[in-house]
Amino acid sequence: MKGIVFEGNGTMTVATVPDPTIMGPGDAIVRVTKAGICGSDLHILNHGEAFGFEHGCRIGHEFVGVVEEVGAAVRTITVGDKVCAPFWISCGECHFCTKGLHTSCLIGGSFGFQTFWPVEGPVQGGQSEFVRVPMADGTLDRVPESLAADSHDHTVLPMTDVLPTAYHAVRCADVRPGDNVVVVGDGAVGLLAAHACTLFDPNSVILCGHHPDRLKIGAHLGATHTVDTRADGAEHTIATLSDGFGADRIILAIASPETMSFAMEQIQPGGTISWVGMEVFLGAPVIPWDQAFLKNITISGGVAPVKHYLPELWPLLESGRLDPSPVLTHDLPLSEGTEGYAVMSSRQEGSVKVALSPGA
Ligand SMILES: [Zn+2]
Ligand SMILES: [Zn+2]
Repeated sequence: MKGIVFEGNGTMTVATVPDPTIMGPGDAIVRVTKAGICGSDLHILNHGEAFGFEHGCRIGHEFVGVVEEVGAAVRTITVGDKVCAPFWISCGECHFCTKGLHTSCLIGGSFGFQTFWPVEGPVQGGQSEFVRVPMADGTLDRVPESLAADSHDHTVLPMTDVLPTAYHAVRCADVRPGDNVVVVGDGAVGLLAAHACTLFDPNSVILCGHHPDRLKIGAHLGATHTVDTRADGAEHTIATLSDGFGADRIILAIASPETMSFAMEQIQPGGTISWVGMEVFLGAPVIPWDQAFLKNITISGGVAPVKHYLPELWPLLESGRLDPSPVLTHDLPLSEGTEGYAVMSSRQEGSVKVALSPGA
């Protein structure tokens, strides 16, 4: 079968790789109908060697598909089910899974990040025709019937990572009715964080980025104000909306030293800053704890336990209250995966996120 393979910094290729097989009784084999390229895959593309990725590693942690085969011990997932695979593999039964923190599963790991897999291998990437899913009962989520047709894949694929990650950021920020909320970052997670904020009836959602085409999508998804930070700062908008007090909640979809220091300046006393995003592995934000102390700031966030949020998000997708599909701006055959990476890493005009279709 075909799959995307890391071949050293700067190179992702479409290669012929071995078909996955059932290795343990809890496994399932999923035929991928749609896979996503994630912003964090670009970190692998550019810095994979520093993260310990070997040449030949198979990439991809966002995929939806149809179950082709299950191991003898799988109970809740059956052949033919349309499933969504959260990017983190989890048992569903350990101390942390039962608390809803599936990303801290005691025997968990992630697809397409082999170096993060502590227990057994190999777990391969989802940007491929088929994937082996360990602990299928704990990991996979059955897609609701009304969204199960492949024609809904653009709505369902963001449920593997970017929509629940955005929702996690909004929940951690504790957005409440009447709040003035700032979202920093106009990638898929930032755009969907602005979208998810609308569930909580804020006064304003100020989306900050530097791609006018993406900011336009953010406005369509629910941002009340957009700021192109290459042309303007957000300070004036925040001050105007908050009577000079500062933002109630700031969501960092890009968590860099610069965005954290911006947030700490712009948050009002008693406010919350939440952060998601993998920039912390490239240079962690310095948190000025003295300011956090004096302003009583709550800092919250981290890697999103996607599986935990799916049950509350599915009905919002089914009703149309949330529709994350506008962030999937491109859909290419899997065989053109290298081009898909080029579209994303060059931030091609009009691009946010690329989907790959193995069946095309
Ligand atoms: Zn992702
Ligand atoms: Zn677990």
